[in-house]
Amino acid sequence: MDILFLFIFFIIKNNDKGRIFWNRFLTWMSRCTRYFRFFENNWELLSKSVQDEMCIMIYRNSWFISLKKLILMPIRISPKAQEKIQKIIGGGKDNLLVLSDFDKTLTKWWVDGKVGKSLISFLRDGEYLDPKYNDEAKQLFEKYYPMEIDPTLDEKKKFQAMNDWWTEHFALLVRYWLTREVLDKVISENRVVFADGIQNFFDVLNKKKIPFVIISAGIEYLIHGFLEKYRLKYVNVFTVANTFDFSSDGTGKIVGVKNIIHGMNKSVLESKNFPFYSQIQGRKNAIILGDSPSDIGMANGWAYDVVLKIGFCHHPEEQEKLFKEIFDIVVFDDEGLGAVVELLKKTEKV
Ligand SMILES: [Mg+2]
Repeated sequence: MDILFLFIFFIIKNNDKGRIFWNRFLTWMSRCTRYFRFFENNWELLSKSVQDEMCIMIYRNSWFISLKKLILMPIRISPKAQEKIQKIIGGGKDNLLVLSDFDKTLTKWWVDGKVGKSLISFLRDGEYLDPKYNDEAKQLFEKYYPMEIDPTLDEKKKFQAMNDWWTEHFALLVRYWLTREVLDKVISENRVVFADGIQNFFDVLNKKKIPFVIISAGIEYLIHGFLEKYRLKYVNVFTVANTFDFSSDGTGKIVGVKNIIHGMNKSVLESKNFPFYSQIQGRKNAIILGDSPSDIGMANGWAYDVVLKIGFCHHPEEQEKLFKEIFDIVVFDDEGLGAVVELLKKTEKV
């Protein structure tokens, strides 16, 4: 039997049609695995009506629904999350606000078999400034990144470390003459690979006039630039990120940063200080999207009735347990925004 299988495999792999078939088969299998993983990690037994609701919401492919019925897989989303989802749907689009991190939440973790680049790494790893900048920026990365991902490090120390990292990094950008022209070059020469379903996600939010706030430790100029490049910069999209002050001497050089935003201080931002506050105030329900435990702090201090936290977990081996504790729904393996889109579609006021 094994020899027969190997013979068939050999035939398939050694002709063009066979190879196409084989690649499609692998892609299909990979998707199946990811779906299973998602269900396995998030679902708990629920009533039949809720099961059907979630079933349609999360996976629309009829073949999969059939498969689910066939193997009697329980549909699970924690009762607490389910309750929040129902409240958000009931509250309707006019009461909803969506807050999201940018890097590795709206963008993919894996790109062409490698970890995708964050916005800042386009600069750090590129050849846009003096090579000394790259060296010094990488030294900072090597010093502070282990602290950022160390789950045992005291929160206060981590907060301080992140603040120091960004302060020192932005000082480098000023010292090595980062200009508006360089930033424009970064945008035109680089590719951001957004999460699956991003276009639908932005379209649905825009169509329903749901404010969408991106809160990022990245550079606001780059976020705006890439959103524009990919035609995602809609009027309902707002950003809270590191905003540069540019020199007024005509060189376009940056001279500083208005407010430093890093991974740890998203939780202490005062929404009332946001220039677009009048367009988001009064929204009672929020959905938060993030790929870092500290992202859940994005709604701290905001008076919401319901906050549904959706976590995008890229390190299931180390973080799965923690993510399941602090997020209401956990998405694994770059599964993308499909489930969120389906939820948003249901937020018509009834
Ligand atoms: Mg992130």
